[in-house]
Amino acid sequence: MTSAIADIVSADALDFAADGGFDVVNPATGEVFAQAPQIGDKALDSVFATAQQAFRSWRKDEDARRAALRAAADAIEKRAGDLVPVLTSEQGKPLNDAMGEVYAAAMWLRYYADLEVPREIIQDDSVAYQEVVRKPLGVVAGITPWNFPLALATWKIAPALRAGNTLVLKPSPYTPLATLAMGQVLRDVLPDGVLSVVTGRDPLGAAMVAHPVPRKVSFTGSTATGKKVAASAADDLKRVTLELGGNDPAIVLGDVDVDAIAQELFWSAFRNNGQVCLAVKRVYAHESIHAQLVEALAAIASTVKVDDGTVDGAQLGPINNRPQFSRVSELVTDALGRGARAVTGGAPLDRPGYFFAPTILDQVSDGVRIVDEEQFGPVLPVLSYRDEDDAIARANRSNYGLTASVWSGDAERAHALATEIDSGQVTINSHGAGVRPNLPFGGHKWSGLGVENGPWGLYGFTEIQVVAGPPRQQ
Ligand code: NAD
Repeated sequence: MTSAIADIVSADALDFAADGGFDVVNPATGEVFAQAPQIGDKALDSVFATAQQAFRSWRKDEDARRAALRAAADAIEKRAGDLVPVLTSEQGKPLNDAMGEVYAAAMWLRYYADLEVPREIIQDDSVAYQEVVRKPLGVVAGITPWNFPLALATWKIAPALRAGNTLVLKPSPYTPLATLAMGQVLRDVLPDGVLSVVTGRDPLGAAMVAHPVPRKVSFTGSTATGKKVAASAADDLKRVTLELGGNDPAIVLGDVDVDAIAQELFWSAFRNNGQVCLAVKRVYAHESIHAQLVEALAAIASTVKVDDGTVDGAQLGPINNRPQFSRVSELVTDALGRGARAVTGGAPLDRPGYFFAPTILDQVSDGVRIVDEEQFGPVLPVLSYRDEDDAIARANRSNYGLTASVWSGDAERAHALATEIDSGQVTINSHGAGVRPNLPFGGHKWSGLGVENGPWGLYGFTEIQVVAGPPRQQ
């Protein structure tokens, strides 16, 4: 264990008394490189009790909360150099990408510090006074996945705290350390109990959702787990926001300049090894440019440098964990067995760790698992279509509806098609341009419930109260 990690998991840096530890694996080697602390039931009770206590004063002073979030953003940027290697060691992403994630985390905190939230006075005259007040809920539980542990944590920390709640946050057991480290950095700028990071193997997540103290669960993860969270939260009507899986389509029209869009489209699918909820997962390319697009994407894929994230120049690291690596391998083998052609890639790399070659699949159709299921890996099936209505229908034939994109040389045409797609965001000539702190992010259908980001994300951490009565002005 490196000394930086030993500091993070040392008992006095924790919000809880650890009940033993569990292994954390470096996906670039497949070897255990650290232990993370396991929280037990009693310690979880005490963390929630501390969060309840902290809520009493934290809810009162909005200016202090805004200042604290600003200080939190500064502290994270200042300690970026310590956070980045921890993130790369447990997540696998290249150091540059880890740095980008740390700065994104700071950006989200700063956005919510600066957000102006107007009072919503409906009527204030000689007849009546009516105001819609947004009250914090109390203690909130946040649960995050392993693909962007820091950025996605701040999607919860920033709005929850700005609204006046206190938060108990649990990262994935595959990536517990960077979030613990960030929690430790934030101890210097937040009052005790306002943010607690707890770690442990599952069923810790389920225990948090079932716990009587939190009034809301803000969950990011798979659709299967999200459904369990919703069912359990229903027992005492906890509020839930669910950011779940996706199987994002990109529809490429026949009028595109293939060479001009290929890089952007490629990285929209392969960034972070495709382990992005809003990665392009299926391309529907017009038959007139399909072959050219397949070749252009394969040419890029075959030159990408895949290596340990700590190696200079690495553009992609390993897949994060063994079950995910096995799933991607299984789905690719299934597709190849059903007639698909791997134009490039198609197999794991012959080295230790969970490395998989960036893979472009041709001659693949709807109905094959790699097209129909969320595969969450460095693989892109490129399908062909003749008419646009058919492409839209196939894009929409999914239980998922997170994001989508339309690529065209004609902006008017692309915009008209965009609104035909059932998803929370649709972008034109890019995929993911809607991921900004000020724009709502959330899925349709099985991709989620509620949204994060912007004022809408903030309101998700509040309960509405109407205050109405006789005129205040006499
Ligand atoms: P996962 O559902 O396996 O785990 C997510 C989190 O839930 C982890 O912290 C896990 O420990 C916890 N958990 C497990 N069982 C639980 C239970 N019964 N109750 C409460 N919590 C429980 O997902 P993952 O494999 O870590 O992440 C990948 C998934 O996350 C993909 O499906 C991806 O699309 C999705 N994701 C969605 C978004 C979004 O914003 N929509 C963003 C990133 C990732």
